[in-house]
Formats: sequence, C-alpha cells, structure tokens
Amino acid sequence: MLYTTLLYIALAIFGIGLIYKVAGWFRFSLGIEDPAMTPAVRIRAALKGVLSVLFSAKILTLIRVFITDVLFQNHIRKQDTLRWAMHMLIYAAFTFLFFLHALDKVIVTSLFEKYYLALNPFLLVAGCMVVAGLAIAFYRRFVQDVPRLKSNGNDIYTLILLAVILLSGIAMELTKLQSYNHYQKFWDVHYLACMVGLAYLPFSKMFHILTTPLSLLANAVMDRHSDPANIKTRQIMELDACMHCTNCSKRCSVAVAADSIGNINILPSERMAALKQYVAYKEIGARGLAAIRQGIYLCTNCDRCTVICPAGINLRDLWFNVREEMIRRGDSVPLMLTPFSFYRGLKRQELNAEQYERPLQKTEKALTDPFALLKTDTVVPLTAENSAFKKTAGLAGRTGTYAYCFSCENCSTVCPVVGNYEAPQQALDLLPHQIIRSMGLGLKDLAMGSRMLWYCLTCYQCQEHCPQGVKVTDIFYELKNLAVMQANGSSAPNGSERAVK
Ligand code: SF4
Ligand code: SF4
Ligand code: SF4
Ligand code: SF4
Repeated sequence: MLYTTLLYIALAIFGIGLIYKVAGWFRFSLGIEDPAMTPAVRIRAALKGVLSVLFSAKILTLIRVFITDVLFQNHIRKQDTLRWAMHMLIYAAFTFLFFLHALDKVIVTSLFEKYYLALNPFLLVAGCMVVAGLAIAFYRRFVQDVPRLKSNGNDIYTLILLAVILLSGIAMELTKLQSYNHYQKFWDVHYLACMVGLAYLPFSKMFHILTTPLSLLANAVMDRHSDPANIKTRQIMELDACMHCTNCSKRCSVAVAADSIGNINILPSERMAALKQYVAYKEIGARGLAAIRQGIYLCTNCDRCTVICPAGINLRDLWFNVREEMIRRGDSVPLMLTPFSFYRGLKRQELNAEQYERPLQKTEKALTDPFALLKTDTVVPLTAENSAFKKTAGLAGRTGTYAYCFSCENCSTVCPVVGNYEAPQQALDLLPHQIIRSMGLGLKDLAMGSRMLWYCLTCYQCQEHCPQGVKVTDIFYELKNLAVMQANGSSAPNGSERAVK
C-alpha cells in the first residue's frame, strides 16, 4: 500500500512537472515580440507542423536521424569516443532496465514465470553497464578535469541519485538468494530512490532524455523558413534539451577570456541555466543577469557552439534572440558595441524598419545620456573631478598614449566615418582628434558623450596614421567600455566588469 501510494505521488509530481514544462514551451518566447503569437496559435502550429512532417517525405529524414543520432548517438561518437561510451552505457542499460525491470509486472513476468526466483544475470549486466557509465562520468568531471567542464548542483545531484539507484539495485540482486532482510532493505532504498528520480525528472538535467531527441528531430526537419510560431516554440524547448555537457564552452571563441579573467559565467553552457529562469520571468538576481549579459556581450556570433552542440540546439539564433529580449525588457542596453549590431545588419531584410532601428537607438541613448554636456551650450568646466578622471579611468599603457597628441588632425583626416559626412561635427559631435584632445584635458563627458565614439568602425586607420603613436582606436575602446560599465551601474573601472570589452 505504502509503495503504491509512493508510486502514485511520484507519478503525479512527474505528470505535473511534465505539463508545466511543455506548457512553458508554448507560453514563453525570446526575441522580438509578436502579440498575435498566442499559446493557442503556437499549439495549433506545432500540431500542423508535426502532421505535415509525418505525412511527407520528411518522415524519412526523421527516421534516419532517429536511428543515427537518437538511438546510436553518432553525432557524439564523432566528437568524443569516451563521452559516447559513457552515454551509450547509461542510455542502453537504462532503456533495458526500464522495460524489463521497472515494467516487469507488465512485460517480463508474463513471459518468464520464474523471473523473481533466480539470480537475474541480465539485470546484473545492465546494472554494471550503468555503473561503468557513471564511473566514466565521474572520471571526466572529477579526475580527467576536462577543460571548462564545470559541474553545477544539478549535475552532482543527478549523478548521486543515479549511483544510489544502481548500487542499491545491484546489492538487491546479490543478496536476493542469501538474506531476505538485506534484500528488503536494499529494495526499500532502491524503490525510494527510483520514486525520487521519477518525481525529480522533469526538473532535473535528466529531462534531456526526453527533450534532446525532440530537439534533434525538430532541427532535422526545420529550417529558417519554417513557421515562425514553431521556431519560437522550438527555441524554448531547446533550453530544456541542454544537458550541460559544456561542449559549446570548450569550442567557444571567447572562452579564452573566461580562462584569463576567471569568470566562467561568460561560457555559453553556463548561460543556459540562468536563461531557463530568465525566459520564464523568474527572479535570477544581479548575478544571473550578469551571467547572461556578459556572455552575450562578448559573443562574436562565430557559430562554433551551434555546430558542436550534441543536442542540436541552434545557439546562434538563441543568442541573437536573447539580446533582443534583454533590450526589450530593458535589462541590458549596452549591446551596441558587440557583434550584435553587425549580425543584426545581416538580418535587416527580415526585420521591419521600426524593429530594426528601435533597439540600437535605445542602446545609444542609454550610453550617451549620462554624458549630457554636449546637449547644452554650457561652458565646459575644468573641474577637479574631470582632472581626476585621467587617473581613475585606468587609461594606462597603450591607452595612456593620448598624452602624446599634438593635434595634427591626421586621425580625423583619414577616418572614413568623418569622411562620410558633409558636416561631420554636426553629425558626430567631436572628431577623433578632438576626442583625444579632450582626453588630454580630462574632460570625460566630452570624450564619452560624443557620437563619434559610437559610430567608430574600429578600422584602426587613425591609429596607423598617427605620427605620435597615439593608440586612438584602443583609447576609443577603453572609453566605450567605461561608458558601458557606467550604463551597467558598475563604478569600478578596475573590477571584474572591466574585463567586459
Ligand atoms: S548548449 Fe549544447 S553544447 Fe552547450 S552545454 Fe548545452 S547541450 Fe552541451
Ligand atoms: S557564437 Fe558566441 S557563444 Fe557561440 S562559440 Fe561563438 S563566441 Fe562562443
Ligand atoms: S593623428 Fe595622433 S597626434 Fe594627430 S591629432 Fe590624431 S591623435 Fe593627435
Ligand atoms: S578607428 Fe574609428 S576613429 Fe579611427 S579611423 Fe577608424 S572609424 Fe575613424
């Protein structure tokens, strides 16, 4: 009776968790908002999409991907044989145990009358396979120390729970013929751990057992021309498909920065956990927000993470939509300096004019508003605060070269942005040589509020042509970083936020 009650409780929690998760795929979205895309519209689009795949030639693609990538996980084998072995051992043995052990009353006992009486070698073999798989998982995480393979709480709880289920199961089989008392104790532990695992599944990393195959199959039959409602739904589902394998972080172009600044939050795999909360409007705090913001600020849209992700997650589009979402929610305006603006340019044809302009205008305003001096006719005061700026801004080394400027105007003459305007000063506020000069005077409002800074293409022409060796472009980078830190509410130029560039 107690065991049956526990089973029903675990099943009820599992069912509620599953419904909650799947409902979230249709309720939430990332990126440019479309009020017409209600959950009902998205559910209808998903059903229509599934039916159109099942009754078209795409079904063959689905079957091929199911066999190669879901059943035999070829995409993982090509990347890392040890990881593939770990996956296959756990996955094959668990599938076997689920059908022939957990469902034994339904399947096995109807076939083998004496199933419960003898030592079952198949269960032992399956159990040993999972133990071997878990041993590889422990080895990779805690002994091999795979670079950037970080274990979070969810990884550790999942490994411990699986280990308890397996070890108690093996102990049960080994004591079955010797001591009923011991067998019963191990059975209790085993049953309880299985129930906890079942109830915890929709909320744990193991949920990817269901969602990763879905993600792989969806990506095999979808492309950028698919129904936008289904693309939105798939994107939210993909967040649940992430198994925190950290493959993306190992290949990420900017991960080297994580090694040097010691901030793992900029790694794509580490952003995923915070993103799941963020997308559901859960409180993630300043730390969670910073984890997402810093990562997408640095991200170069190089696409390496998408290519390598074993769950088939389209990370490139995910990062793009996260940026749009953060700007929409007002959580992270200083994204204009990132490759986002460039990548957005590539997408211009797909966005209407208002959608295209709004986020960047918002970003630019947020960055330049704190430096309001240029918008008035006020005479610029040479205050002590402005003079102190030179010392506190961290403009040292290469960027300290502004002091050598003798105002020859070469930098402004060669600048393609300046050359683009009939009346450059009107369009850009200050020209490059004037920004460098204002640096010499310590006038940070002038230097950082000038539109020239934000329109700069970072082509390095000015720096290459400067007869005094002033690192003009590097200085502009430095100033922009300071403005971003100010817009982000960070006042410490030499703090960890400083590494965000
Ligand atoms: S996004 Fe993909 S590659 Fe990155 S941790 Fe998740 S599953 Fe692994
Ligand atoms: S697209 Fe961004 S997150 Fe992905 S690998 Fe490149 S830099 Fe890293
Ligand atoms: S080219 Fe060099 S020296 Fe000349 S104005 Fe520009 S920064 Fe100053
Ligand atoms: S780096 Fe910027 S300021 Fe220098 S020449 Fe190029 S666009 Fe002009």
